[in-house]
Amino acid sequence: MPSKRDYYEVLGVSRDAGADEIRKAYRKLALKHHPDRNKEEPKVAEEKFKDLSEAYEVLVDPDKRARYDQYGHSGVESTFRGGGFDWSDFTHFEDISDIFGGSSGFGFGGSIFEQFFGGRHRSGPREGRSLRYDIEIPLQDAASGAERELRIPHSVQCKSCGGQGADSKDIKTCQTCKGAGRVQQGQTRGNTSFVSIAACPTCRGSGRQIIKPCATCEGVGATDTTSTIKVSIPQGAEEGMRLRIRGAGEASSDGGAPGDLFIIIHIAPHEVFERDGRNLYVDAPISFSEAALGAKIRVPTLDGTALVTIPPGTQTGTVLRLKGKGMPDLRGHGNGDEFVRAQVITPSKLNAEQKELLRKFSESVGQYGKTGARKMRFSGLRKKS
Ligand SMILES: [Zn+2]
Ligand SMILES: [Zn+2]
Repeated sequence: MPSKRDYYEVLGVSRDAGADEIRKAYRKLALKHHPDRNKEEPKVAEEKFKDLSEAYEVLVDPDKRARYDQYGHSGVESTFRGGGFDWSDFTHFEDISDIFGGSSGFGFGGSIFEQFFGGRHRSGPREGRSLRYDIEIPLQDAASGAERELRIPHSVQCKSCGGQGADSKDIKTCQTCKGAGRVQQGQTRGNTSFVSIAACPTCRGSGRQIIKPCATCEGVGATDTTSTIKVSIPQGAEEGMRLRIRGAGEASSDGGAPGDLFIIIHIAPHEVFERDGRNLYVDAPISFSEAALGAKIRVPTLDGTALVTIPPGTQTGTVLRLKGKGMPDLRGHGNGDEFVRAQVITPSKLNAEQKELLRKFSESVGQYGKTGARKMRFSGLRKKS
């Protein structure tokens, strides 16, 4: 197998090219090499156009580009569903649709262009559909990591017919399209002749005709089942995290590989902790006298409690840090911190004796004048000169 060309070379841009430059280069080359403009050698043009689009798909995506820069072609192969780039992996159709579509005069509109991007252009059987399954886990499980067993209803390849929908002796090549799955249709508009390619109406693109469907799956090629899937939730799992279980999705409709199962993790809100990445936040109510005089209080942590020293003169909103008491890092870079936010609670139910004590306290700090009305001071707001 010949070695693959460098993506930057394919698009003729430097390794530090910006997204705009990459887009411009792709548009220019896509226009030049589009198969509908190279009718004398359409196969060569088609390959070239596909190579350009593959390079563009990777380089225009910051994530894929970073992987390619670091690991080369092997770094991005897994992002293509079939292990290699195919048109179904191309997600930037809209970036060039304007130069080919509409009244541009290239005769698109249900032509080869649609064949590329409409998903009909394919070699070999189709992959099964992927499935999504959402689960919610408590914060503690995200901290410690956890195992889950999920019951996933999905389809599997029919064992009787191997996913073909019929015994092989009962499958014939479609006579309308001679097995190609596509038919050509000629059309003339004004002085221009168009050739458009459409899915074969007889076999709906499969290229085959089933004479007698499989009795087990009634020709579908798949049967329904429920699988028990074991899932490992990693330590430090984050909201929205996606776990991919290869091959646990739906069966293919024509004997291809099954789709994947994507498990989306949600973290249930915790009754005391708020999470921000690796850090945790907790509100600690402290009494007025604890705030004034200082105190030692116990606050909840992920693995129990911790003793926190409240310094004398603590205000509401003062944040104290418990180093390393936050969430573990997903990539193993150590734990975050827990931040304790002091909330000074004003006493609201006082008995007569307590009220008297507080009145005496007020007098001793001189908060009230002779009239009993407090004089407001703004000492903190203005600089003393
Ligand atoms: Zn056909
Ligand atoms: Zn079957």
